[in-house]
Amino acid sequence: MPETVDGVPLWLLKITVLALGAAFGSFANVLVHRVPLGQSIVRPASRCPCCGASIRWHDNVPILGWIWLGGKCRDCRAAISIRYPLVELVMAVLSLACLYLAVMRSGGMADVAGLAPLWAFPFAFCFLLVTLTFIDLQHWRIPHVFTVTGAAIGLASALLISTFSGVDWKDSLIGLVVGALPVVIIIEVYFRLTRREGMGYGDVMLLGMIGATLGVQSLPFVFLASSVQGLLVAVPMVLIARRSPQPPWEADQDPSQPHASGLRHAAVPFGPFLSVAAMQWLFFQDLLAPWFIP
Ligand SMILES: [Zn+2]
Repeated sequence: MPETVDGVPLWLLKITVLALGAAFGSFANVLVHRVPLGQSIVRPASRCPCCGASIRWHDNVPILGWIWLGGKCRDCRAAISIRYPLVELVMAVLSLACLYLAVMRSGGMADVAGLAPLWAFPFAFCFLLVTLTFIDLQHWRIPHVFTVTGAAIGLASALLISTFSGVDWKDSLIGLVVGALPVVIIIEVYFRLTRREGMGYGDVMLLGMIGATLGVQSLPFVFLASSVQGLLVAVPMVLIARRSPQPPWEADQDPSQPHASGLRHAAVPFGPFLSVAAMQWLFFQDLLAPWFIP
């Protein structure tokens, strides 16, 4: 890593992207909370979901605000979910990782203005993945607005920074289609066999977005890693709980039916695993590619 970029010390860039990442994490929290409810994301300003008091600007500092409030609302003392500082911290770390990626990809040649898009495109990708992951964990669905935006940004990055990312417009377009198609088939086959929805069309769109951004070459790894890591989490969950967590769309089924249990009925939202696998490829593709691309 170079000491300075275009005369700007690297430590200053690191602090800047950390702060930017945490601020975007704050925005991600707003999206996670409001988009599934269909609320405006600009108005009103942040409020305590419990008592409705507006949050003071000095308590609204990412990560630190939660810490000095001791995780409680200043007005009603209701607990504030650990999800808020967690999302902010994750986004700050990913933002820093995107800076490393940008510096590596530029080969130390770019100035600050040249680094900006190399940071911004992967960061936008991570931002959308983290946001839709937390929505999927809570609501078991992925709003199409995030995946469609993500696919558009992926195509744009293939047109603008392909010399640095190694994903050109053909990889991107083929990735968009090839990513989405197999999942449509899996959904249909799984549904015929079990009469249950294992994955939804949110996952289809998400794979399209991942294919459009990381290119068709990323898909073998993303398919494999998300399935394996998904099983590694789902199997112990089912064994410990002795019954599968119930997806919300089955909650209003006939209550006289005994709740199905066992692996065949295991269900976890799949979006988070696709997102994690996509980020693993984004940051570690140099290590992974020899194993997954013939
Ligand atoms: Zn409150």
